[in-house]
Amino acid sequence: MKDIFCRIIDGEIPCAKVYEDDDVLAILDISQTTKGHTLVIPKAHCSDFLSAPKETIDKVFAVAQRIGQAQISMLGAKGVNILSNVGSEAGQSVPHFHVHVIPRYGKDSGFQVTMKEQDISSVDLPRLACVIKEGIKE
Ligand code: AMP
Repeated sequence: MKDIFCRIIDGEIPCAKVYEDDDVLAILDISQTTKGHTLVIPKAHCSDFLSAPKETIDKVFAVAQRIGQAQISMLGAKGVNILSNVGSEAGQSVPHFHVHVIPRYGKDSGFQVTMKEQDISSVDLPRLACVIKEGIKE
């Protein structure tokens, strides 16, 4: 079964379109975390950021940058969060790669990012860095 973004791309479900070209569609998120919250979606299906081809990543993020710039110039946003959830554990609910472009207006915004520091006294950071480094593909 097609995911909801494939159905929007195929014109089966309406959307509030912000941008479209041959490869990328950008729409307003139906849940407006802040005013102007936009999703940038590749038209060719891939399930998430980590499995997307590099050219898809390049195209999607190039559009995300332009949309963030427009949110600042046209909506009066003071900042922007760029976010792509990968996997349900990370909050991904639609299994089709997409980037959230979330304009930020100040402390009253409906979107909060909290990165709480953990106790890492038992973690060997150089060793941990080596483990990740070993897994980086060419
Ligand atoms: P994520 O949870 O990162 O996978 O993001 C999926 C996003 O898609 C959520 O923020 C939803 O609000 C949004 N969404 C789901 N259905 C629609 C729809 N029909 N039109 C626009 N946005 C949608």
